[in-house]
Amino acid sequence: MDYVGRPLLACMFLVLLLLQWRFPLRRQHFSMLHRLVRNFVLSIPGFAIVRLAMLPIPLAVAMWAQDRHLGLLNWLALPAWAAAISTFLLMDYAYWWWHWANHMIPLFWRFHNVHHTDLDLDVSTAARFHFGEMIFSVGFLSLAVLVFGIAPIMLVVFFITFEAATLFHHSNWRLRIGIERALNMIFVTPRMHGIHHSIVQRETNSNWGTIFCWWDKLHRTLRRDVPQNEIIIGVAAYRDEHELTVGKLLALPFREQHPWRLPTGEEPDRPTRPADELAE
Ligand SMILES: [Zn+2]
Repeated sequence: MDYVGRPLLACMFLVLLLLQWRFPLRRQHFSMLHRLVRNFVLSIPGFAIVRLAMLPIPLAVAMWAQDRHLGLLNWLALPAWAAAISTFLLMDYAYWWWHWANHMIPLFWRFHNVHHTDLDLDVSTAARFHFGEMIFSVGFLSLAVLVFGIAPIMLVVFFITFEAATLFHHSNWRLRIGIERALNMIFVTPRMHGIHHSIVQRETNSNWGTIFCWWDKLHRTLRRDVPQNEIIIGVAAYRDEHELTVGKLLALPFREQHPWRLPTGEEPDRPTRPADELAE
C-alpha cells in the first residue's frame, strides 16, 4: 500500500484534477482552490485513521481469519481467479449496504452528511470525510473481511481499486456521453454519482454503488434521468458557505441536524422521467 497503492492513488488524483480542469462536467459555483484546501484540511484526521487503522486492523483480521480458516472464502477454497472475482463482488456489494446505512441510520448520517455538504462536486470531495465516519468504517471493513474470509493480499488490491473508483466517480471530468454510457453498464461513473450528490433527497437516496452499478440496479435505486446541468450539488439545509468551515464541519455531527429543507422551507423536487441510459 505504501510503495504502490498510495503513489498510484496520488498520481490518479493529480491526473483527474487536470482532466476535470481541462474538461469540466458541471459548472462549478465556488472557488476550486478554496474547496481543495478546505477538503484537504478536513481530510487530514481521516488520512491518519486510514494509515494507522483502516488498513492495519482489517489486514490483521484477514491474516487471523486465514490462519484459523474462518470466513466464507476460506471455507470454500476456490481457485485464485474465482476467489479474486468473489472478493470484488462480495466487498463492493457489502459497501453498497454500508453506504445505504450511512444515509438511512441517523447516527451514521450525522457524519456522512459532512461529505455531502460540499457545494460543488469534484475529485477533492473524494477526500472530504469526517474522521468519525472513517472510524465506523474500520469496524465495518473488519467485520466484512472476517465474514467473507478475504485474503490479505486481495484486501489490499480491493482497497486500492475501491479508492481509485471513489476518486474517479467524484471527479468533475466530462467524458464523452457515449463512452460514459458504455462504462456505466458496469461501473459507477461521474454523471451517475453526481445525481447522488443532488439537493433533491429522492436523488441522493439513489446510486449508492462504489465500483459496480449493478447493486443499484438490483435494488431499483439506480437513477440516470437527471441531466448534469440541472443538478444542484449539496444538502438542502446546509447551503451557507460560511456555515461550512473546517471547524463547523468537524462539529456538525454533534449539533442538531436540520431537516431536508431549503432555507425558504420548501423541499427541493423535480419530476422523474423514465430513463434507461444516463442523461447527458
Ligand atoms: Zn452518500
